Amino acid sequence: MTTQPTPLQGSYFDGRDGRRHAVDVDLAHGRLRLRGDRIERDEPLDALTITPRLARTLRTIAFPDGARLQLADAACLAVWFPHRNRLEALVDRLERYYQAVALAIVVCLGALVAGYLWGIPWLADRIATHLPARVEAALGDQVLALLDRTDLDASALDVGRRTELADRFAVLAAGLPDGADYRIVFRSAPSIGPNAFALPGGTIVVTDELVELFADDRQLDAVLAHELGHQAGRHALRQALRGSFIAIAAAFFAGDVSSASAVVVAVPTVLLQNRYSRQFEDEADRFAYAHLAGHALSPSWLGAALGQLETDLPDDASLAWMSSHPATAARIARPTPPAPTSSRAIRSWPTRSPVSC
Ligand SMILES: [Zn+2]
Repeated sequence: MTTQPTPLQGSYFDGRDGRRHAVDVDLAHGRLRLRGDRIERDEPLDALTITPRLARTLRTIAFPDGARLQLADAACLAVWFPHRNRLEALVDRLERYYQAVALAIVVCLGALVAGYLWGIPWLADRIATHLPARVEAALGDQVLALLDRTDLDASALDVGRRTELADRFAVLAAGLPDGADYRIVFRSAPSIGPNAFALPGGTIVVTDELVELFADDRQLDAVLAHELGHQAGRHALRQALRGSFIAIAAAFFAGDVSSASAVVVAVPTVLLQNRYSRQFEDEADRFAYAHLAGHALSPSWLGAALGQLETDLPDDASLAWMSSHPATAARIARPTPPAPTSSRAIRSWPTRSPVSC
């Protein structure tokens, strides 16, 4: 006398409504056999698919017509549904070893951290570098329009003074790879204070408060040379993309491409509230030192500008440019490069009460 194997217990859903039907499940002549109250179904195994084994989760068997059978894992399921490829078999074997599972978790976490630390900055930089110039310029225009609505007013400097400073800026920007796209604009910004920032696309905004603070235009030249460094390195766009990359990617994959306008909002946040990364500040400083030297201006003018920003304002004043930049003392204290001797001097520039350097 032979003993019939005990049927498995399962829950059957016919795919037409959500009702659960308790069924006995076994195998007969190569067909899965389901028996329950008003349920009688036989299906060839080849027509069925089963979810992979995962710890103690229920297995689900899918029928071609959309019906589902859920049941606890059992040894006979591995016989009925032998692994169809080696990868699935390997995964199944590894899942039985907690060391392998722990290693997989560590590897996944490591990949996430590496992606956050290096992957996102790398990708953001590639996007910023390859963004068409007209797109970057349009982005910069939108950022300026946003700032004009919120924090900036029309400049109160007289036209002659603005022209004089714009001419100095044009000399500084001349010859740079994207120098033709660079322009300077002046704005009154009592709520921001003395500040200058480089927008995507080539615009550098200078507040009246910064112009009025300096006793010598060469201090402003030095700050502008530093901002040109941010401009040349596309730092605002890169930093904004790095910061909002996850939100933009999520919006993109969710089909909400319009949310990419988050970059427009992210740029002012980077410029006015967050600091640039130390790497970007160092790049901008190095750029400024070399650029000033190339224009027969001592790089120490940058230190003079920082020093005046720090000493000439009352303690409670909004040190805007300082607050969005790294520790001043360290930058002033950096070794001063030798005085320039370049023939590209702009000695004809007018000066006002020079600050000794
Ligand atoms: Zn900076």
